[in-house]
Amino acid sequence: MPVKVSKICCIGAGYVGGPTCAVIALKCPHITVTIVDLNQSRVDAWNSPDFALPIYEPGLVDVVRQARGRNLFFSTDVDKGIEEADLIFVSVNTPTKKSGVGAGFAADLNYVELATRRIATVANSSKIVVEKSTVPCRTAESMRTILEANSKPNCRFDILSNPEFLAEGTAITDLFKPDRVLIGSLETREGVEACQSLAEVYANWVPQDRILTVGLWSSELSKLAANAMLAQRISSINALSAICEATGANIDEVAHAIGYDSRIGPKFLKASVGFGGSCFQKDILNLVYLSESLHLPEVAAYWRQVVEMNEYQKRRFSKRVVDTLFNTITGKRIAVLGFAFKADTGDTRESAAITLIKDFQSERAFVNIYDPQVEEEQIWNDLSEASPLIPIESIKKQVTICHSAIEACKNAEAVVIATEWKEFLEIDWEEVYKGMNKPAFVFDGRLLVDAEKLTKIGFKVTTIGRPSAV
Ligand code: NAD
Repeated sequence: MPVKVSKICCIGAGYVGGPTCAVIALKCPHITVTIVDLNQSRVDAWNSPDFALPIYEPGLVDVVRQARGRNLFFSTDVDKGIEEADLIFVSVNTPTKKSGVGAGFAADLNYVELATRRIATVANSSKIVVEKSTVPCRTAESMRTILEANSKPNCRFDILSNPEFLAEGTAITDLFKPDRVLIGSLETREGVEACQSLAEVYANWVPQDRILTVGLWSSELSKLAANAMLAQRISSINALSAICEATGANIDEVAHAIGYDSRIGPKFLKASVGFGGSCFQKDILNLVYLSESLHLPEVAAYWRQVVEMNEYQKRRFSKRVVDTLFNTITGKRIAVLGFAFKADTGDTRESAAITLIKDFQSERAFVNIYDPQVEEEQIWNDLSEASPLIPIESIKKQVTICHSAIEACKNAEAVVIATEWKEFLEIDWEEVYKGMNKPAFVFDGRLLVDAEKLTKIGFKVTTIGRPSAV
């Protein structure tokens, strides 16, 4: 008989574990959900009386406000969380390995392994263990080996894969109305029953036909494949944007025209300065590494090109800024609007803004940064990490963090739009123009602003996928 889940523990209170399990708690008042994390300050923020949560996500505060203290709890007591639960999500980080074998490509599964070992050591009763983290294909096999080798007698562990497809910035709506919930299990009786137990949790709000059950390895691979396909679309449209800039074609018109084809569809066809975020690059590199490990070098090369195209797009954009500003930006002030990797999130991981700013720094420009959500400390950390050989004091001499777009643009030669925050549409561009050095340039890396309107004000506007306006 499938276990009726009444207590859930989620290991990892990050961008995925936090929102996902908060929504489960909201939608399943009969289930106690405890989200545990080793990071004390993160847990404190989840528990903060004024709901100053550790991540910014529209709608998240409302969800936490309704469920926290009722059946949703945040704690650093990982062992207690594990011990009490009948189902455990492993939602820890799986970054790309920084050093050692496979560095730069392979997933670092250290956190997954540590969490798995903890479960094996602490559990006194049988558990359903669910991979929520994005992992290479067949990771569940390694987890099973670790669990079986370290478990107490009479404890059995059924492992499921349940990858998360939410997108940062729309996480809550994605979780409320997912395109699909994917659950992978072994095709044994126990595996199928564990799968039913988890499916029953989701069935509290997700329509039955959106809950897909597949084999364990298919589920693991599907997550990598979904992100790879999404990133590939962005790299494809960005590759076309370079051709547009050189020919006079307009990437918006091209995207519109091809998106009308029902086989292609209109979504994810927006050209930009490049994709960022913690997942796309990491998951494709993971796929590259997996392909190489499986002795499939042509497959690895195919996916690697998606990432290389993205790097090329960022560098191409920086170069366009330098070229347009009369081939030098030394000593010039550039306002960068947006630091998050996309709008509606405070997440800066792999943000294109970081690469652009680093390029501007290396050309000895002064950079003013404004982002409505990203904390100052985060910006300094990211810039410091991006240029480890430059002391932070030197970085601070070149970079200023501003508190409004108008302030950032004051006395600048150029404005670079790096994130598609809606508030940048509301900027008083006439006011911005008055405060800038002339000629005043705008480089729209997100196809956000009305180029025609800005040109009428007097700006020289350059947008992705259109010839430069100089
Ligand atoms: P994150 O870094 O925001 O959160 C992970 C958390 O796990 C951290 O707070 C860390 O302290 C905690 N942790 C690590 N090891 C632990 C342990 N042994 N015990 C307790 N806590 C531990 O990461 P994230 O963005 O939430 O991503 C988690 C996973 O979900 C990754 O595999 C990622 O690829 C995947 N994913 C992320 C997104 C996204 O949009 N961020 C979307 C889908 C899937």
